[in-house]
Amino acid sequence: MGFCPICEKKTLFYKKADWLRDNYHCIRCNSIPRQRALLQVMQQFFPDWRKFNIHESSPSGATFKKFSSECLGYRSSQFFPDIPAGTIFSGQRCEDLSRQTFNDESFDIVITQDVLEHLLDPVKSLKEICRTLKPGGAHVFTVPWYSWQDTKIRAIQEDDKIVYLEEPDYHVNPVNDEGSLVVTEWGKDLIDTIYASTGMSTTAIHIRDRQVGVDAKFIEVFVSRKLLGSVSSLTNRWAR
Ligand SMILES: [Zn+2]
Repeated sequence: MGFCPICEKKTLFYKKADWLRDNYHCIRCNSIPRQRALLQVMQQFFPDWRKFNIHESSPSGATFKKFSSECLGYRSSQFFPDIPAGTIFSGQRCEDLSRQTFNDESFDIVITQDVLEHLLDPVKSLKEICRTLKPGGAHVFTVPWYSWQDTKIRAIQEDDKIVYLEEPDYHVNPVNDEGSLVVTEWGKDLIDTIYASTGMSTTAIHIRDRQVGVDAKFIEVFVSRKLLGSVSSLTNRWAR
């Protein structure tokens, strides 16, 4: 028994298999641990998120239901390789994270849940996420983080084809039956890579608390902040 950060009610968390990350559910909303961890972080860091402009790439499940019903400024997009960016397909806006059609500084928060490991051009995508954030805005995300080892690139794109450097590994994709290819196993250089490519500073938040149904491997939630415009005037003041 515990309290679900998504339902915001008392609930029962139950385990369907030992791999908790995909099998430890809330009996009310069917959410999984990383979704509840994300909501815990949203509540703690951004308690006014319901009033924000939020873009989520490739949403699904309980968090999609919550954000789309409780946040008026929530917009979501999915990637369909053959559909032009910015158009609507099957009721969903199509966007390629590495070439977005959103204007600069459109959002207070951009959310990606288990997306970064599938991007063929992650640095370009991170830059684009940063471009669409307002100053002081944040990219809130989850990704399997192999924090004890170097980042491993499993596949690269060369011209129009994908070259596999490791045995192809696919994750479930709600909008594509083939699944999503795992391109990158992000390692200890994740946070430095984000800083080097965007200037955003990142905090990794690790929650393990069964009272809120948060316990699993790869449970970190990351918050990358875009620099506030006022920071340079403050540092200049102190530098005098
Ligand atoms: Zn729930």
